Amino acid sequence: MTSIATLGSHCALQVLKGAKDEGFTTLLVCEKKRESLYRRFSFIDELIMVDSFSEILTDECQNKLKEKNAVLVPHGTLISQMTSDEIESINVPIFGNKWILRWESDRVMKEKLMLESKLNVPKSVKNPKDIKRLVIAKRHGAAGGKGYFMASSEDEYNRKRDKLISQGLIKDDSDLYLQEYHSGVLAYLQFFYSPITEELEFFGVDKRHESDIEGLGRIPAKEQLDIDEIPSFNVIANSPLVLRESLLEKVYSMGESFVEASKRLVTPGMNGPFCIEGVYDQDANFFSFEFSARIVAGTNIFMEGSPYTALLYDEPMSMGRRIAREVKIAESKNMLEKIVT
Ligand code: ATP
Repeated sequence: MTSIATLGSHCALQVLKGAKDEGFTTLLVCEKKRESLYRRFSFIDELIMVDSFSEILTDECQNKLKEKNAVLVPHGTLISQMTSDEIESINVPIFGNKWILRWESDRVMKEKLMLESKLNVPKSVKNPKDIKRLVIAKRHGAAGGKGYFMASSEDEYNRKRDKLISQGLIKDDSDLYLQEYHSGVLAYLQFFYSPITEELEFFGVDKRHESDIEGLGRIPAKEQLDIDEIPSFNVIANSPLVLRESLLEKVYSMGESFVEASKRLVTPGMNGPFCIEGVYDQDANFFSFEFSARIVAGTNIFMEGSPYTALLYDEPMSMGRRIAREVKIAESKNMLEKIVT
């Protein structure tokens, strides 16, 4: 009998609760410092204790997972704490497509896949000398917005970059990716694609609360000018959104073209949960600056389902539960190899 495993962080509670609701045995790879938190939840059947998540790369840890026939559900913590080579070397079946996670971590590959998907991507700026309007400088990988900054000239960019270097957050220019900044309503569109039914489900939409760029808006302009700190986009929390219904058609077509482009560029394609992240401008055009090729923490809002899953399912359906449901369906059809890599 298959079990479902994940790392103890990010959306582990949602994933394992969903797995338990679908009748699976649940396993958590848990760092010792978080043990008391996760022991509170009776839907977690077994904790595999580690000093640090990198131990998932050891034979010992992987053998424990294999003994339990585990399918490992990847999330943002796996991506932020491990290199793509390390993730690809994991020998336990990973839900979805582990090869596409490299495309999420590398900004250049990411842009390629987004352009292939015909998403409206904000222009990247290759050289700081070419900064003509407001840009955002981002670090590679899922840094969660920490140490990102805005600049509207080369001088401002150089000053802020030097500050990050002195703080040890980056080495040099090569650690930063520059992109034109678009202002509007930020929206993080959550999807699930099943390679079994070949259907795309729109699961929900959230917005992120990022510190301290959000805090800045509460300070009058006069005081803002005296602040010397570079504000960050460090994600602290998420809250739900519903979109104007007239925007939904475009939401589905963006998701579908992303799925199609992924099939062309990175076999077996974008299977399972993913998220397209961007901003609606004043004409309701969507500029998408980012995707996540796995479950995002914004789905934690919808543990009991979202307004959109209520339209698709007659029962509470979280993304974690949907993942487990897919494993169950695949097993019953003897198609497990289609949904894991
Ligand atoms: P994740 O945690 O999803 O991996 P990340 O570290 O890859 O995030 P982004 O999501 O690309 O980084 O950017 C972090 C935040 O910066 C966004 O949530 C958004 O608030 C802001 N942002 C990024 N790019 C743009 C843009 N082009 N225009 C406006 N805001 C942007």
